[in-house]
Amino acid sequence: MTMQPLTQLMSQVESNVVPILEGEARRVDLEGLWPAASVKTLKESGLLGLTIPAEFGGSGAGMREFAAITERLARACASTAMIYLMHVCGTQAIAMSGSLKREGALKKIAAAEALATLAFSERGSRSHFWAPVSRAQRNASVVVLNCEKSFVTSAGYADYYVTSAGAVDGKTPADSTLYLVESGTNGLQVSGAWNGIGLRGNSSAPMILRDCHVGQDFRLSLEGQGFKMMMEVVLPWFQIGSAAVSLGIGEAAFASAVQHTSSARLEHLGESLASAIPASAPGSRACAWLWMRREVFSIRPWRESNPAVRQPWSGCWAQRRSPPKPRLKSRMRPCALAVEPRSRGSLRWSATFATRARLPSWRLRRTSFMTSLAKPWQVSPCFD
Ligand SMILES: Cc1cc2nc3c(=O)[nH]c(=O)nc-3n(C[C@H](O)[C@H](O)[C@H](O)COP(=O)(O)OP(=O)(O)OC[C@H]3O[C@@H](n4cnc5c(N)ncnc54)[C@H](O)[C@@H]3O)c2cc1C
Repeated sequence: MTMQPLTQLMSQVESNVVPILEGEARRVDLEGLWPAASVKTLKESGLLGLTIPAEFGGSGAGMREFAAITERLARACASTAMIYLMHVCGTQAIAMSGSLKREGALKKIAAAEALATLAFSERGSRSHFWAPVSRAQRNASVVVLNCEKSFVTSAGYADYYVTSAGAVDGKTPADSTLYLVESGTNGLQVSGAWNGIGLRGNSSAPMILRDCHVGQDFRLSLEGQGFKMMMEVVLPWFQIGSAAVSLGIGEAAFASAVQHTSSARLEHLGESLASAIPASAPGSRACAWLWMRREVFSIRPWRESNPAVRQPWSGCWAQRRSPPKPRLKSRMRPCALAVEPRSRGSLRWSATFATRARLPSWRLRRTSFMTSLAKPWQVSPCFD
């Protein structure tokens, strides 16, 4: 498949993918459902293979295309964007591996026959995903995995689980190895339900691996080198994609706040809610717009100008000198403003109101994910 210009890709996403996601998002979020139609449309549109090299049937796109598309998906459906983000992270780990299963797996993903995800976080080490407490054991020619994974997006729906485990004979908590575990492997099972307060429709459920036998050809990283692969391959895609999801959710929340304040009317005064709120008040349309502009424009130029982001299929970040700076705290604001009492009134507490669902999604992205994932960069001896 040849790589299309970004504008062409975006217009295809806009006309073929976004309407399906928008049509399904509300019910998916309210009822915590798996977005089956949205995932199907991701497959049919070829987006699952977006970042896979052309030699394996993918589009060979880089982070720039991935970020722009993920942001647009998040504006339409945060849960689907999350599924897509984890899929691409898992796919990149497979693409950068030396596993004998690599080619077959990439071709299946590019042909839209397989969805991937990450199974890193464990119950025992929680947000410190780089330190799995599970330990793989060698048994003749196979490795036996016993792990309790606390959150796995697309649990029970993915075909490939990029799974971490403590390295065979590993000495420290960071000595880990990554494996490709296929759905249907004996001992792999979803062990609970996901009932989130935001990002509800992506089955981010716990999973258990009980005596899972995995052949050596399913090993994705070198033995004991899982941490390096997580940091150098997975984390950059995760950081960029996660920032894109946050931005998309914020934009959607902001658009819905503007739509509401412009259309809700104070009939006795003969004016809209927007014009009644002083322009300088927190939560006013003008004020929210300024915040949003600042946030959007602060991250986009950085993303566009970063050479590593612009490179086609920049699978590995090893050449990078500094980690991405997603500026999480300030990007919370558009979403918070969107439910500000002045712009929302009591409607912000209504379950039928679009933004209500987006605020927890935004918070969830910010607090659990990003704070924990950004940490190793501050403490690790670094690979740059
Ligand atoms: C919707 C969703 C989907 C997810 N999908 C996946 C997935 O597909 N694959 C996967 O592997 N994981 C996934 N995760 C897990 C995620 O990456 C984190 O591991 C998880 O959210 C951490 O939650 P916890 O309650 O265990 O955090 P805890 O470890 O209990 O941390 C609670 C808080 O304490 C902070 N904290 C922890 N240690 C320190 C410290 N040393 N210093 C200061 N602060 C600290 C954390 O940053 C966090 O804010 C998902 C999580 C969510 C919410």
